[in-house]
Amino acid sequence: MEQLQSDVIVVAAGLSGLAASIAAAENGASVITFEKSSTTGGAANMGMGPLGVGSRIQKEHMIALTPGEAFRKHMYFTHYRVDARMVRDYYFKSGDTIDWLMDMGVEFVGVQRAFSAPEATRAYSDGEFTWHVVKPEDGGMPGPRCATAMTKKMTERAKDLGVDFRFETPVKKIIMEDGAAVGVIAVDKNGEEIEARAKSVIICTGGFGDNPEMIREQTEFEYGNTIYNFAIPGMKGEGIKMAWEAGAGKEPCIMELMYQLPDNMNHFILDGAFRQPCLWVNRNGERFMPEDQIANTTFTGNAIAAQPGKVAYSIFDSKLLKKYKKKGPDIVSHVHPHDLFDHFDEQWERDLADGYEPIVQADTIEELAEKAGIDVEGLVRQIEEYNEMCENGYDEIFEKDRAYMQPIEKAPFYLCRENVGAYGSLGGVKINHKTQVLTQDAKVIPGLYCAGTDACNIFGDSYPFILSGNTMGFCLNSGRIAGENASAGDEDFDDFE
Ligand SMILES: Cc1cc2nc3c(=O)[nH]c(=O)nc-3n(C[C@H](O)[C@H](O)[C@H](O)COP(=O)(O)OP(=O)(O)OC[C@H]3O[C@@H](n4cnc5c(N)ncnc54)[C@H](O)[C@@H]3O)c2cc1C
Repeated sequence: MEQLQSDVIVVAAGLSGLAASIAAAENGASVITFEKSSTTGGAANMGMGPLGVGSRIQKEHMIALTPGEAFRKHMYFTHYRVDARMVRDYYFKSGDTIDWLMDMGVEFVGVQRAFSAPEATRAYSDGEFTWHVVKPEDGGMPGPRCATAMTKKMTERAKDLGVDFRFETPVKKIIMEDGAAVGVIAVDKNGEEIEARAKSVIICTGGFGDNPEMIREQTEFEYGNTIYNFAIPGMKGEGIKMAWEAGAGKEPCIMELMYQLPDNMNHFILDGAFRQPCLWVNRNGERFMPEDQIANTTFTGNAIAAQPGKVAYSIFDSKLLKKYKKKGPDIVSHVHPHDLFDHFDEQWERDLADGYEPIVQADTIEELAEKAGIDVEGLVRQIEEYNEMCENGYDEIFEKDRAYMQPIEKAPFYLCRENVGAYGSLGGVKINHKTQVLTQDAKVIPGLYCAGTDACNIFGDSYPFILSGNTMGFCLNSGRIAGENASAGDEDFDDFE
Protein backbone atom coordinates (compact mmCIF):
# COMPACT_ATOMS: atom_id res chain seq x y z
CA MET A 1 0.00 0.00 0.00
CA GLU A 2 1.35 3.43 -0.92
CA GLN A 3 2.06 5.56 2.16
CA LEU A 4 1.87 9.35 2.02
CA GLN A 5 2.42 12.07 4.58
CA SER A 6 1.53 15.78 4.61
CA ASP A 7 0.50 18.51 7.02
CA VAL A 8 -3.03 18.74 5.67
CA ILE A 9 -5.18 16.39 3.62
CA VAL A 10 -8.10 17.84 1.69
CA VAL A 11 -10.81 15.42 0.62
CA ALA A 12 -12.02 16.70 -2.78
CA ALA A 13 -11.03 19.51 -5.12
CA GLY A 14 -14.41 21.17 -5.69
CA LEU A 15 -14.96 24.79 -4.72
CA SER A 16 -14.51 24.46 -0.96
CA GLY A 17 -11.70 21.92 -1.39
CA LEU A 18 -9.80 24.29 -3.66
CA ALA A 19 -10.25 27.18 -1.23
CA ALA A 20 -9.11 24.97 1.66
CA SER A 21 -6.09 23.65 -0.27
CA ILE A 22 -4.93 27.12 -1.27
CA ALA A 23 -5.43 28.62 2.19
CA ALA A 24 -3.51 25.79 3.89
CA ALA A 25 -0.69 25.95 1.34
CA GLU A 26 -0.48 29.73 1.70
CA ASN A 27 -0.02 29.12 5.42
CA GLY A 28 3.07 27.07 4.59
CA ALA A 29 1.49 23.64 5.01
CA SER A 30 2.18 20.72 2.70
CA VAL A 31 -1.15 19.69 1.20
CA ILE A 32 -2.39 16.57 -0.55
CA THR A 33 -5.81 16.90 -2.17
CA PHE A 34 -7.62 13.72 -3.19
CA GLU A 35 -10.24 14.16 -5.89
CA LYS A 36 -12.61 11.46 -7.08
CA SER A 37 -13.10 12.85 -10.60
CA SER A 38 -10.50 13.72 -13.19
CA THR A 39 -10.86 17.46 -12.71
CA THR A 40 -11.28 20.25 -10.16
CA GLY A 41 -14.22 22.58 -9.50
CA GLY A 42 -17.12 20.19 -8.80
CA ALA A 43 -20.60 21.72 -9.05
CA ALA A 44 -19.08 25.20 -9.07
CA ASN A 45 -18.23 24.64 -12.74
CA MET A 46 -22.00 24.79 -13.41
CA GLY A 47 -22.61 28.13 -11.72
CA MET A 48 -22.06 31.82 -12.19
CA GLY A 49 -20.49 33.29 -9.09
CA PRO A 50 -20.13 33.69 -5.32
CA LEU A 51 -21.42 36.11 -2.71
CA GLY A 52 -19.10 38.67 -1.21
CA VAL A 53 -19.78 41.64 1.05
CA GLY A 54 -17.34 44.52 1.24
CA SER A 55 -15.22 43.53 -1.76
CA ARG A 56 -13.08 46.02 -3.71
CA ILE A 57 -15.52 45.90 -6.64
CA GLN A 58 -18.48 46.63 -4.38
CA LYS A 59 -16.65 49.61 -2.92
CA GLU A 60 -15.77 50.84 -6.43
CA HIS A 61 -19.48 50.64 -7.33
CA MET A 62 -20.49 52.37 -4.12
CA ILE A 63 -22.44 49.37 -2.89
CA ALA A 64 -22.77 50.28 0.74
CA LEU A 65 -23.85 46.97 2.29
CA THR A 66 -21.60 46.07 5.23
CA PRO A 67 -20.80 42.57 6.51
CA GLY A 68 -22.62 43.41 9.74
CA GLU A 69 -25.78 44.36 7.86
CA ALA A 70 -25.57 41.21 5.74
CA PHE A 71 -25.12 39.16 8.91
CA ARG A 72 -28.27 40.69 10.46
CA LYS A 73 -30.29 40.14 7.28
CA HIS A 74 -29.19 36.54 7.12
CA MET A 75 -30.05 35.91 10.75
CA TYR A 76 -33.45 37.60 10.34
CA PHE A 77 -34.16 35.43 7.28
CA THR A 78 -33.22 32.26 9.18
CA HIS A 79 -34.99 33.28 12.42
CA TYR A 80 -31.76 32.75 14.34
CA ARG A 81 -32.06 28.99 13.96
CA VAL A 82 -28.46 28.72 12.73
CA ASP A 83 -24.96 29.26 14.14
CA ALA A 84 -24.60 33.04 14.40
CA ARG A 85 -20.83 32.82 14.95
CA MET A 86 -20.39 30.85 11.74
CA VAL A 87 -22.62 33.25 9.79
CA ARG A 88 -20.78 36.24 11.26
CA ASP A 89 -17.32 34.90 10.42
CA TYR A 90 -18.46 33.99 6.91
CA TYR A 91 -19.82 37.42 6.02
CA PHE A 92 -16.93 39.29 7.60
CA LYS A 93 -14.47 37.26 5.51
CA SER A 94 -16.46 37.21 2.27
CA GLY A 95 -15.37 40.58 0.84
CA ASP A 96 -11.72 39.80 1.46
CA THR A 97 -12.23 36.40 -0.19
CA ILE A 98 -13.41 38.08 -3.40
CA ASP A 99 -10.28 40.29 -3.32
CA TRP A 100 -8.19 37.15 -2.65
CA LEU A 101 -9.70 35.54 -5.77
CA MET A 102 -9.03 38.64 -7.83
CA ASP A 103 -5.43 38.62 -6.68
CA MET A 104 -5.23 35.09 -8.13
CA GLY A 105 -6.44 36.46 -11.46
CA VAL A 106 -10.18 35.75 -11.20
CA GLU A 107 -12.19 38.43 -13.01
CA PHE A 108 -15.77 39.42 -12.30
CA VAL A 109 -18.13 41.14 -14.73
CA GLY A 110 -19.82 42.92 -11.86
CA VAL A 111 -22.02 42.49 -8.82
CA GLN A 112 -25.68 41.61 -9.18
CA ARG A 113 -28.74 40.68 -7.25
CA ALA A 114 -30.50 37.51 -8.19
CA PHE A 115 -32.43 38.83 -11.19
CA SER A 116 -33.85 41.97 -12.70
CA ALA A 117 -37.52 42.83 -12.94
CA PRO A 118 -39.63 45.90 -12.34
CA GLU A 119 -39.13 46.91 -8.72
CA ALA A 120 -42.70 46.21 -7.65
CA THR A 121 -42.52 42.58 -8.72
CA ARG A 122 -38.97 41.87 -7.78
CA ALA A 123 -39.33 39.12 -5.27
CA TYR A 124 -35.93 40.12 -3.97
CA SER A 125 -36.63 43.81 -3.96
CA ASP A 126 -34.97 43.64 -0.58
CA GLY A 127 -32.20 41.59 -2.18
CA GLU A 128 -28.67 42.92 -2.04
CA PHE A 129 -25.94 43.29 -4.62
CA THR A 130 -23.79 40.44 -3.37
CA TRP A 131 -23.53 38.07 -6.36
CA HIS A 132 -20.08 38.45 -7.94
CA VAL A 133 -20.61 37.10 -11.44
CA VAL A 134 -17.47 35.56 -12.92
CA LYS A 135 -16.25 36.87 -16.27
CA PRO A 136 -16.52 34.01 -18.78
CA GLU A 137 -13.27 32.73 -20.25
CA ASP A 138 -14.38 33.48 -23.80
CA GLY A 139 -15.35 37.02 -22.83
CA GLY A 140 -18.98 36.49 -23.93
CA MET A 141 -22.16 37.05 -21.93
CA PRO A 142 -22.10 35.53 -18.45
CA GLY A 143 -24.38 32.53 -18.01
CA PRO A 144 -24.43 29.01 -16.59
CA ARG A 145 -20.91 27.55 -16.25
CA CYS A 146 -19.08 30.88 -16.40
CA ALA A 147 -17.69 30.20 -12.89
CA THR A 148 -15.38 27.61 -14.48
CA ALA A 149 -13.03 30.52 -15.14
CA MET A 150 -12.78 30.96 -11.35
CA THR A 151 -12.11 27.30 -10.50
CA LYS A 152 -9.41 27.16 -13.20
CA LYS A 153 -7.56 30.13 -11.72
CA MET A 154 -7.88 28.60 -8.25
CA THR A 155 -6.45 25.34 -9.54
CA GLU A 156 -3.49 27.18 -11.09
CA ARG A 157 -2.89 28.98 -7.81
CA ALA A 158 -3.03 25.73 -5.82
CA LYS A 159 -0.58 24.06 -8.21
CA ASP A 160 1.79 27.04 -8.01
CA LEU A 161 1.73 26.67 -4.22
CA GLY A 162 2.70 23.01 -4.55
CA VAL A 163 -0.63 21.37 -3.68
CA ASP A 164 -0.30 17.69 -4.59
CA PHE A 165 -3.54 16.81 -6.45
CA ARG A 166 -4.39 13.12 -6.72
CA PHE A 167 -7.14 12.78 -9.33
CA GLU A 168 -9.45 9.79 -9.80
CA THR A 169 -8.52 8.87 -6.24
CA PRO A 170 -11.59 8.91 -4.00
CA VAL A 171 -11.19 8.89 -0.26
CA LYS A 172 -12.95 5.93 1.34
CA LYS A 173 -12.32 6.36 5.04
CA ILE A 174 -11.00 8.74 7.67
CA ILE A 175 -8.32 7.15 9.85
CA MET A 176 -9.13 7.80 13.49
CA GLU A 177 -6.71 7.23 16.39
CA ASP A 178 -7.50 8.05 20.02
CA GLY A 179 -10.54 10.03 18.91
CA ALA A 180 -8.56 12.22 16.48
CA ALA A 181 -8.45 12.24 12.68
CA VAL A 182 -4.92 11.36 11.55
CA GLY A 183 -5.32 10.57 7.87
CA VAL A 184 -7.35 8.90 5.18
CA ILE A 185 -7.56 5.75 3.10
CA ALA A 186 -7.98 6.51 -0.60
CA VAL A 187 -8.08 4.28 -3.69
CA ASP A 188 -6.22 5.27 -6.83
CA LYS A 189 -7.39 4.73 -10.41
CA ASN A 190 -5.69 1.32 -10.54
CA GLY A 191 -7.66 0.21 -7.51
CA GLU A 192 -4.60 0.42 -5.23
CA GLU A 193 -5.16 1.61 -1.68
CA ILE A 194 -3.26 4.62 -0.39
CA GLU A 195 -2.77 5.40 3.28
CA ALA A 196 -2.15 9.11 3.75
CA ARG A 197 -1.40 10.62 7.14
CA ALA A 198 -1.61 14.26 8.19
CA LYS A 199 -2.12 16.56 11.17
CA SER A 200 -5.54 17.53 9.84
CA VAL A 201 -8.11 16.29 7.38
CA ILE A 202 -10.65 18.59 5.68
CA ILE A 203 -13.77 17.03 4.17
CA CYS A 204 -15.29 18.90 1.21
CA THR A 205 -17.20 16.39 -0.93
CA GLY A 206 -20.16 18.51 -2.06
CA GLY A 207 -23.20 16.77 -0.55
CA PHE A 208 -25.44 14.05 -1.97
CA GLY A 209 -27.31 15.54 -4.94
CA ASP A 210 -26.36 12.48 -7.00
CA ASN A 211 -27.53 9.91 -4.48
CA PRO A 212 -31.29 9.20 -4.77
CA GLU A 213 -31.19 6.79 -1.83
CA MET A 214 -29.69 9.39 0.48
CA ILE A 215 -32.14 12.02 -0.80
CA ARG A 216 -34.98 9.67 0.19
CA GLU A 217 -33.45 8.82 3.56
CA GLN A 218 -32.40 12.31 4.60
CA THR A 219 -35.10 14.55 3.06
CA GLU A 220 -38.81 14.52 2.25
CA PHE A 221 -38.16 14.10 -1.50
CA GLU A 222 -37.84 11.32 -4.02
CA TYR A 223 -35.50 11.93 -6.94
CA GLY A 224 -37.25 11.74 -10.32
CA ASN A 225 -40.67 11.80 -8.71
CA THR A 226 -41.09 14.68 -6.29
CA ILE A 227 -37.78 16.39 -7.02
CA TYR A 228 -35.73 16.86 -10.19
CA ASN A 229 -32.57 18.32 -8.74
CA PHE A 230 -29.24 18.81 -10.48
CA ALA A 231 -27.44 15.53 -9.91
CA ILE A 232 -23.84 16.48 -10.55
CA PRO A 233 -22.04 13.16 -11.04
CA GLY A 234 -20.07 12.03 -8.02
CA MET A 235 -21.98 13.90 -5.32
CA LYS A 236 -22.84 10.76 -3.38
CA GLY A 237 -22.61 12.05 0.16
CA GLU A 238 -19.42 10.10 0.81
CA GLY A 239 -17.75 12.81 2.90
CA ILE A 240 -20.85 13.23 5.07
CA LYS A 241 -21.02 9.49 5.71
CA MET A 242 -17.28 9.29 6.45
CA ALA A 243 -17.61 12.16 8.91
CA TRP A 244 -20.60 10.55 10.63
CA GLU A 245 -18.65 7.26 10.84
CA ALA A 246 -15.78 9.16 12.44
CA GLY A 247 -18.13 10.39 15.15
CA ALA A 248 -19.40 13.69 13.70
CA GLY A 249 -22.74 14.98 14.91
CA LYS A 250 -25.63 15.20 12.48
CA GLU A 251 -27.29 18.40 11.38
CA PRO A 252 -30.53 18.30 9.37
CA CYS A 253 -29.93 17.85 5.65
CA ILE A 254 -32.05 19.84 3.22
CA MET A 255 -32.24 20.17 -0.55
CA GLU A 256 -31.32 23.60 -1.89
CA LEU A 257 -34.78 24.10 -3.34
CA MET A 258 -35.83 25.96 -6.45
CA TYR A 259 -38.00 24.84 -9.34
CA GLN A 260 -37.11 23.54 -12.74
CA LEU A 261 -38.16 21.38 -15.65
CA PRO A 262 -36.90 17.81 -15.70
CA ASP A 263 -33.54 17.74 -17.56
CA ASN A 264 -33.83 21.52 -17.76
CA MET A 265 -30.43 22.23 -19.28
CA ASN A 266 -31.63 20.48 -22.47
CA HIS A 267 -34.89 22.46 -22.45
CA PHE A 268 -33.46 25.73 -21.26
CA ILE A 269 -35.54 28.06 -23.45
CA LEU A 270 -38.79 26.57 -22.14
CA ASP A 271 -37.38 26.47 -18.61
CA GLY A 272 -36.99 30.25 -18.84
CA ALA A 273 -40.08 31.01 -20.95
CA PHE A 274 -42.57 29.67 -18.42
CA ARG A 275 -41.00 31.53 -15.45
CA GLN A 276 -43.44 34.33 -16.09
CA PRO A 277 -46.15 35.91 -13.90
CA CYS A 278 -48.85 34.35 -16.11
CA LEU A 279 -51.24 31.83 -14.51
CA TRP A 280 -49.86 29.23 -12.11
CA VAL A 281 -52.06 26.49 -10.70
CA ASN A 282 -51.73 23.24 -8.80
CA ARG A 283 -53.12 19.81 -9.68
CA ASN A 284 -56.60 20.89 -8.51
CA GLY A 285 -56.51 23.75 -10.98
CA GLU A 286 -56.17 26.28 -8.14
CA ARG A 287 -53.80 29.21 -7.94
CA PHE A 288 -51.48 28.91 -4.96
CA MET A 289 -49.32 32.05 -4.87
CA PRO A 290 -49.20 35.56 -6.35
CA GLU A 291 -47.49 34.88 -9.66
CA ASP A 292 -45.55 38.13 -9.51
CA GLN A 293 -43.36 36.33 -6.94
CA ILE A 294 -42.48 33.31 -9.05
CA ALA A 295 -39.05 34.63 -9.94
CA ASN A 296 -38.03 34.01 -6.36
CA THR A 297 -37.02 30.46 -7.15
CA THR A 298 -36.57 29.52 -3.50
CA PHE A 299 -40.04 30.66 -2.46
CA THR A 300 -41.64 29.12 -5.53
CA GLY A 301 -39.80 25.83 -4.96
CA ASN A 302 -41.11 25.82 -1.39
CA ALA A 303 -44.65 26.65 -2.57
CA ILE A 304 -44.64 23.90 -5.21
CA ALA A 305 -43.35 21.42 -2.60
CA ALA A 306 -46.44 22.23 -0.52
CA GLN A 307 -48.90 21.41 -3.37
CA PRO A 308 -50.56 18.03 -4.01
CA GLY A 309 -48.02 15.78 -5.74
CA LYS A 310 -45.40 18.56 -5.33
CA VAL A 311 -46.12 19.91 -8.83
CA ALA A 312 -47.43 23.10 -10.39
CA TYR A 313 -48.38 24.23 -13.88
CA SER A 314 -47.50 27.47 -15.62
CA ILE A 315 -50.02 28.46 -18.30
CA PHE A 316 -50.28 31.20 -20.93
CA ASP A 317 -52.41 31.71 -24.00
CA SER A 318 -51.46 32.68 -27.53
CA LYS A 319 -52.19 36.35 -26.87
CA LEU A 320 -49.72 36.45 -24.01
CA LEU A 321 -47.20 34.50 -26.05
CA LYS A 322 -47.52 37.07 -28.82
CA LYS A 323 -46.86 39.82 -26.29
CA TYR A 324 -43.80 38.07 -24.88
CA LYS A 325 -42.46 37.59 -28.40
CA LYS A 326 -42.99 41.24 -29.27
CA LYS A 327 -42.02 42.95 -26.01
CA GLY A 328 -39.93 40.31 -24.29
CA PRO A 329 -40.73 38.46 -21.07
CA ASP A 330 -42.37 40.23 -18.12
CA ILE A 331 -39.59 38.98 -15.88
CA VAL A 332 -36.06 38.66 -17.18
CA SER A 333 -33.73 36.30 -15.39
CA HIS A 334 -29.96 36.71 -15.36
CA VAL A 335 -29.57 33.00 -15.92
CA HIS A 336 -31.73 32.39 -19.00
CA PRO A 337 -31.10 34.10 -22.36
CA HIS A 338 -32.82 37.49 -22.56
CA ASP A 339 -34.04 36.77 -26.10
CA LEU A 340 -35.58 33.44 -25.19
CA PHE A 341 -38.95 34.14 -26.84
CA ASP A 342 -37.16 34.59 -30.18
CA HIS A 343 -36.32 30.89 -29.89
CA PHE A 344 -39.55 29.73 -28.27
CA ASP A 345 -41.30 28.27 -31.34
CA GLU A 346 -38.29 26.28 -32.39
CA GLN A 347 -37.83 24.57 -29.02
CA TRP A 348 -41.57 24.20 -28.39
CA GLU A 349 -42.16 22.44 -31.72
CA ARG A 350 -39.14 20.22 -31.27
CA ASP A 351 -40.03 19.25 -27.70
CA LEU A 352 -43.69 18.63 -28.61
CA ALA A 353 -42.63 16.41 -31.51
CA ASP A 354 -40.20 14.54 -29.22
CA GLY A 355 -42.99 13.95 -26.67
CA TYR A 356 -41.24 15.90 -23.87
CA GLU A 357 -43.84 15.09 -21.27
CA PRO A 358 -44.02 18.22 -19.05
CA ILE A 359 -45.38 20.37 -21.90
CA VAL A 360 -48.91 20.50 -23.30
CA GLN A 361 -50.59 22.50 -26.04
CA ALA A 362 -54.37 22.46 -26.48
CA ASP A 363 -57.20 24.34 -28.13
CA THR A 364 -59.53 24.26 -25.12
CA ILE A 365 -58.99 24.60 -21.38
CA GLU A 366 -60.71 21.24 -20.84
CA GLU A 367 -58.33 19.50 -23.22
CA LEU A 368 -55.35 21.28 -21.64
CA ALA A 369 -56.35 20.14 -18.15
CA GLU A 370 -57.05 16.58 -19.24
CA LYS A 371 -53.77 16.16 -21.06
CA ALA A 372 -51.81 17.65 -18.16
CA GLY A 373 -53.60 15.63 -15.46
CA ILE A 374 -55.18 18.67 -13.79
CA ASP A 375 -58.72 18.56 -12.38
CA VAL A 376 -60.75 19.73 -15.40
CA GLU A 377 -63.61 21.42 -13.53
CA GLY A 378 -61.17 23.02 -11.13
CA LEU A 379 -59.10 24.59 -13.90
CA VAL A 380 -62.14 25.77 -15.86
CA ARG A 381 -63.56 27.39 -12.71
CA GLN A 382 -60.21 28.94 -11.81
CA ILE A 383 -59.71 30.44 -15.27
CA GLU A 384 -63.23 31.91 -15.26
CA GLU A 385 -62.55 33.52 -11.90
CA TYR A 386 -59.08 34.67 -12.94
CA ASN A 387 -60.24 36.17 -16.24
CA GLU A 388 -62.98 38.05 -14.44
CA MET A 389 -60.44 39.49 -12.00
CA CYS A 390 -58.23 40.44 -14.97
CA GLU A 391 -61.18 42.31 -16.47
CA ASN A 392 -61.69 44.14 -13.18
CA GLY A 393 -57.94 44.79 -13.02
CA TYR A 394 -57.65 43.48 -9.48
CA ASP A 395 -56.59 40.14 -8.01
CA GLU A 396 -58.92 39.65 -5.06
CA ILE A 397 -57.17 36.49 -3.97
CA PHE A 398 -53.46 37.30 -3.87
CA GLU A 399 -53.26 40.96 -4.91
CA LYS A 400 -50.90 40.10 -7.73
CA ASP A 401 -49.42 43.15 -9.41
CA ARG A 402 -52.10 44.61 -11.72
CA ALA A 403 -49.66 44.83 -14.62
CA TYR A 404 -49.66 41.06 -14.81
CA MET A 405 -53.41 40.49 -14.66
CA GLN A 406 -53.51 39.19 -18.23
CA PRO A 407 -56.40 36.83 -19.09
CA ILE A 408 -56.06 33.29 -20.42
CA GLU A 409 -58.60 33.29 -23.25
CA LYS A 410 -57.18 32.82 -26.72
CA ALA A 411 -56.35 29.35 -28.07
CA PRO A 412 -54.03 27.65 -28.45
CA PHE A 413 -53.11 27.38 -24.77
CA TYR A 414 -49.60 26.51 -23.59
CA LEU A 415 -48.75 24.70 -20.37
CA CYS A 416 -45.59 23.56 -18.70
CA ARG A 417 -45.43 21.38 -15.60
CA GLU A 418 -43.09 22.85 -13.03
CA ASN A 419 -41.31 20.53 -10.64
CA VAL A 420 -39.47 21.06 -7.43
CA GLY A 421 -35.78 21.29 -8.24
CA ALA A 422 -32.59 21.84 -6.31
CA TYR A 423 -28.99 22.76 -6.90
CA GLY A 424 -27.98 19.90 -4.62
CA SER A 425 -28.11 19.02 -0.95
CA LEU A 426 -27.08 21.19 1.96
CA GLY A 427 -25.75 20.35 5.37
CA GLY A 428 -25.29 17.22 7.41
CA VAL A 429 -21.98 17.49 9.27
CA LYS A 430 -21.95 19.40 12.53
CA ILE A 431 -19.18 22.01 12.67
CA ASN A 432 -18.31 25.09 14.69
CA HIS A 433 -17.41 28.51 13.32
CA LYS A 434 -13.82 27.38 12.87
CA THR A 435 -15.18 24.54 10.68
CA GLN A 436 -13.94 21.97 13.18
CA VAL A 437 -16.13 18.88 13.13
CA LEU A 438 -18.12 18.42 16.33
CA THR A 439 -19.66 15.38 17.94
CA GLN A 440 -23.41 15.40 18.59
CA ASP A 441 -22.73 16.89 22.03
CA ALA A 442 -20.56 19.62 20.50
CA LYS A 443 -17.10 18.28 21.39
CA VAL A 444 -14.35 19.04 18.87
CA ILE A 445 -13.02 16.01 16.99
CA PRO A 446 -9.31 16.88 16.88
CA GLY A 447 -7.82 17.07 13.39
CA LEU A 448 -11.12 16.89 11.53
CA TYR A 449 -12.62 19.78 9.57
CA CYS A 450 -15.49 20.01 7.14
CA ALA A 451 -16.43 22.75 4.66
CA GLY A 452 -18.71 23.51 1.72
CA THR A 453 -22.13 22.00 1.19
CA ASP A 454 -21.33 18.95 3.38
CA ALA A 455 -21.34 21.38 6.32
CA CYS A 456 -23.60 24.15 5.05
CA ASN A 457 -26.00 24.26 7.99
CA ILE A 458 -26.47 28.01 7.97
CA PHE A 459 -29.53 28.46 5.73
CA GLY A 460 -32.21 27.06 8.03
CA ASP A 461 -34.98 25.72 5.81
CA SER A 462 -34.42 27.84 2.68
CA TYR A 463 -31.65 29.28 0.56
CA PRO A 464 -31.40 33.03 1.35
CA PHE A 465 -31.75 34.40 -2.16
CA ILE A 466 -31.94 37.92 -0.73
CA LEU A 467 -28.16 37.56 -0.41
CA SER A 468 -27.43 35.73 -3.63
CA GLY A 469 -24.32 33.74 -4.45
CA ASN A 470 -24.66 32.32 -0.98
CA THR A 471 -23.82 28.66 -1.59
CA MET A 472 -20.59 29.38 -3.42
CA GLY A 473 -19.96 32.15 -0.91
CA PHE A 474 -20.27 29.74 1.99
CA CYS A 475 -18.22 27.05 0.22
CA LEU A 476 -15.36 29.42 -0.56
CA ASN A 477 -15.26 31.02 2.86
CA SER A 478 -15.78 27.90 4.93
CA GLY A 479 -13.11 26.21 2.79
CA ARG A 480 -10.73 29.08 3.34
CA ILE A 481 -11.42 29.14 7.10
CA ALA A 482 -10.89 25.37 7.27
CA GLY A 483 -7.61 25.60 5.34
CA GLU A 484 -6.32 28.33 7.62
CA ASN A 485 -7.29 26.59 10.85
CA ALA A 486 -6.19 23.13 9.74
CA SER A 487 -2.74 24.47 8.94
CA ALA A 488 -2.37 26.60 12.06
CA GLY A 489 0.39 25.71 14.52
CA ASP A 490 -0.18 23.49 17.54
CA GLU A 491 -0.39 26.48 19.87
CA ASP A 492 -3.48 27.64 17.98
CA PHE A 493 -5.09 24.27 18.43
CA ASP A 494 -5.12 24.87 22.19
CA ASP A 495 -7.40 27.85 21.68
CA PHE A 496 -9.99 25.68 19.99
CA GLU A 497 -10.74 23.54 23.01
C1 LIG B 1 -26.38 24.51 -12.09
C2 LIG B 1 -25.82 25.08 -10.84
C3 LIG B 1 -25.62 26.44 -10.77
C4 LIG B 1 -25.11 27.01 -9.59
N1 LIG B 1 -24.90 28.35 -9.55
C5 LIG B 1 -24.45 28.92 -8.41
C6 LIG B 1 -24.15 30.32 -8.36
O1 LIG B 1 -24.19 31.03 -9.38
N2 LIG B 1 -23.81 30.83 -7.14
C7 LIG B 1 -23.73 30.07 -6.02
O2 LIG B 1 -23.45 30.61 -4.95
N3 LIG B 1 -23.92 28.73 -6.06
C8 LIG B 1 -24.26 28.13 -7.23
N4 LIG B 1 -24.43 26.79 -7.29
C9 LIG B 1 -24.09 25.97 -6.11
C10 LIG B 1 -22.55 25.78 -5.99
O3 LIG B 1 -22.00 25.54 -7.25
C11 LIG B 1 -22.23 24.62 -5.07
O4 LIG B 1 -22.92 24.83 -3.87
C12 LIG B 1 -20.73 24.53 -4.75
O5 LIG B 1 -19.97 24.32 -5.90
C13 LIG B 1 -20.48 23.39 -3.80
O6 LIG B 1 -19.13 23.41 -3.44
P1 LIG B 1 -18.52 22.18 -2.65
O7 LIG B 1 -17.09 22.44 -2.49
O8 LIG B 1 -19.33 21.90 -1.45
O9 LIG B 1 -18.75 20.95 -3.64
P2 LIG B 1 -18.37 20.81 -5.15
O10 LIG B 1 -17.81 22.06 -5.72
O11 LIG B 1 -19.52 20.22 -5.83
O12 LIG B 1 -17.18 19.75 -5.11
C14 LIG B 1 -17.33 18.47 -4.56
C15 LIG B 1 -16.16 17.62 -5.06
O13 LIG B 1 -16.07 16.43 -4.27
C16 LIG B 1 -15.59 15.38 -5.09
N5 LIG B 1 -15.79 14.13 -4.33
C17 LIG B 1 -16.97 13.57 -3.97
N6 LIG B 1 -16.74 12.47 -3.23
C18 LIG B 1 -15.39 12.36 -3.09
C19 LIG B 1 -14.53 11.44 -2.41
N7 LIG B 1 -15.03 10.39 -1.72
N8 LIG B 1 -13.19 11.62 -2.48
C20 LIG B 1 -12.67 12.67 -3.19
N9 LIG B 1 -13.43 13.54 -3.86
C21 LIG B 1 -14.78 13.41 -3.79
C22 LIG B 1 -16.40 15.59 -6.34
O14 LIG B 1 -15.87 14.87 -7.44
C23 LIG B 1 -16.32 17.12 -6.49
O15 LIG B 1 -15.21 17.49 -7.26
C24 LIG B 1 -24.86 26.18 -8.46
C25 LIG B 1 -25.06 24.80 -8.55
C26 LIG B 1 -25.52 24.25 -9.72
C27 LIG B 1 -25.71 22.76 -9.79
